[in-house]
Amino acid sequence: MKDNHSLCKSARYIKGVGPKKIKILNSLGIQTVKGLLYHFPFRYEDRGRLKAISNLTPGQYQSLKAEVLAMGVRKARSGRGIFEMAVGDKTGKLFTVWFNQPYMKNYFKVGDKLFLYGKVEKRKRLEIINPECELIPGDDKGVTIHTDRMVPIYPLTRGIGQRTLRGIIFAAVEEFASSADEFLPPALRRKHKLLHITASLKNIHFPENRALLSEARRRLIFEEFFNFQLVMTLRKKAAKDKKGISFKAEEKLAVRFRESLPFKLTASQERVMDEVENDMKSSRPMRRLLQGDVGSGKTVVALHALLKAVENGYQGVFMAPTEILAQQHYISVKRMLKGLRVKVVLLAGGMKARDKDKAKKKIGRQKAGIIIGTHSLIQKTVNFNKLGLAVIDEQHKFGVAQRETLVKKGLCPDVLIMTATPIPRSLAYTIYGDLDLSVIDKLPPGRKAVTTWWVSGKKRDGAYEFIRKQIANGRQAYIVYPLVEESEALDLRAAKIMHKKLKERVYPDLNVGLLYGKMKAAEKKEIMQKFKSGQLDNMVFTIVMDGCSDVANAAVMLIEHAERFGLSQLHQLRGRIGRGKFESYCILISSSGKDEAKRRLSIMSAHSDGFKIAEEDLKMRGPGEFFGTRQHGYPELRVGNILKDTALLNLARREVLNIMDNDPGLKLPANRRLFEGYAARYF
Ligand code: ADP
Ligand code: MG
Repeated sequence: MKDNHSLCKSARYIKGVGPKKIKILNSLGIQTVKGLLYHFPFRYEDRGRLKAISNLTPGQYQSLKAEVLAMGVRKARSGRGIFEMAVGDKTGKLFTVWFNQPYMKNYFKVGDKLFLYGKVEKRKRLEIINPECELIPGDDKGVTIHTDRMVPIYPLTRGIGQRTLRGIIFAAVEEFASSADEFLPPALRRKHKLLHITASLKNIHFPENRALLSEARRRLIFEEFFNFQLVMTLRKKAAKDKKGISFKAEEKLAVRFRESLPFKLTASQERVMDEVENDMKSSRPMRRLLQGDVGSGKTVVALHALLKAVENGYQGVFMAPTEILAQQHYISVKRMLKGLRVKVVLLAGGMKARDKDKAKKKIGRQKAGIIIGTHSLIQKTVNFNKLGLAVIDEQHKFGVAQRETLVKKGLCPDVLIMTATPIPRSLAYTIYGDLDLSVIDKLPPGRKAVTTWWVSGKKRDGAYEFIRKQIANGRQAYIVYPLVEESEALDLRAAKIMHKKLKERVYPDLNVGLLYGKMKAAEKKEIMQKFKSGQLDNMVFTIVMDGCSDVANAAVMLIEHAERFGLSQLHQLRGRIGRGKFESYCILISSSGKDEAKRRLSIMSAHSDGFKIAEEDLKMRGPGEFFGTRQHGYPELRVGNILKDTALLNLARREVLNIMDNDPGLKLPANRRLFEGYAARYF
């Protein structure tokens, strides 16, 4: 570790942390002293405003300073011990009560001076039950931790209380905050009046006053954003500094493909195709993120790029997040490339071992061609012959590490990442700072918004009737059942029961298909083809994100337990319908009475724009959960909120770009620490 040595010590070094406590701290994500220092409070209690007893207001949490007048343990009717103290100041008297804790009597004696904090109540007498309580040190010089100050309140876990954790963190701050490494360049700190790291760590935990607390927060938020941006920028630079492939404008396959399209490309698609093409021509490796709503036509852009690779004699790979999507891409790509004589290979986990082996052999032998698959493509046993371009669908499903594993299988290939969970550009610059950005911001013309409404489970029969009418009009329908990872087996059973009921009781006269991720590949393919060809009127399919695209005739989607899906997931599912010329409908069924579930579902009814929905999703779930940054090799954000602290976010971004412009290798003395001490860890 190049980090400051003492801070990398195990948290065991702190007084009060033994073998049992360290396990509990570990479950809070704390391993080291630094972990303790960066375990920030989520709020504070102002226990600093001392009140005279005669001025206390019953019903409120208040602080006071008093002397112990008398104390004793009495028995409750249950037989348990109640410890009580009478305390007083010049203005009056008050009683403190602790139930079931007779041993408390050992901590006090008459004449002790105390700080007390708690909810004051007026019964027969003035009292506080279970107050926070701290002895005033005899010499009057010691500091208090739990009373008479702004007191930090921490995120906890089972087995540890506020008071214990606060004591541990206090000890860590006392001993180690002064050895925290100040890695921000001094000039930068002066310019933006950023508090020193030591003062920041002290004040974020045990603020001297409000002003210093807010200075500490500001610095630590800046630090987080700055690190984040620095890591992303360095990562991008590291990728771009390599020598990549200069694809030539051969104007063969790709052009023919463009000409063969049965529709006119949108201006957005044209622009993005140009951006991708320029990257591919350049000898710097492409690292580009393509954002676009569901149905905005990203696949065409991807195919165009893949064909560029193929016509240059390279392989192109298209990695999808689920097997069903990989299957569908395979089917539709083959169809779209009919007549172009391009080899297309599918490799998915659910295929028979023999077929997988065959596919792997082809992947290893064939020079040019398109390979479609899931993360099974990153297995060790998959060796590409001449991989030149990797298209990765659905960025957030794959971590940085997986992305890099795939990249390493090629000769510094170009990489295009696609996401249907678009976020506003300003945010994307930060979150995806290691990538260049392209956005398809307009849907192809003629798309109709899907009429969406949500109903409780009681209205299910009505929904079934509605679907029946749609089918009578010649439409097809999806009925979606959620499959949550943690309860997959149970969910699948429930979905199968549902399917049986639909088939036997609700629609005995119709064709009802069933599709789920773990089915055999051949079965899946058969079901999908039946649905596409119109042999199945109705379909229950049960996978979280897997959808069936490209069925123009599918005009209704009913989603069960809609509250269990994220907003963006719902939007993507819904994007599978409304692609044809028919009015389309999405019915969200949820019996959850929770306000949050209701709010989410009403957002779905109100909005059809993927950007807007992603933004709302981000707001509701918070950036951490939305991006799942932690497991994906990104620096974590603890204090900074990319939605709320935008001014600091932009400031940090500007400063990082500034520093990188002047000193791209971070070699100047003032900047070297940045690289060594911090950013280097994320490579
Ligand atoms: P995405 O991958 O962005 O969700 P797709 O590429 O699957 O979207 O496109 C959705 C549908 O729209 C496909 O059936 C595709 O053929 C069609 N499509 C793509 N571009 C256009 C366009 N410019 N005009 C009309 N239809 C288009
Ligand atoms: Mg290139």
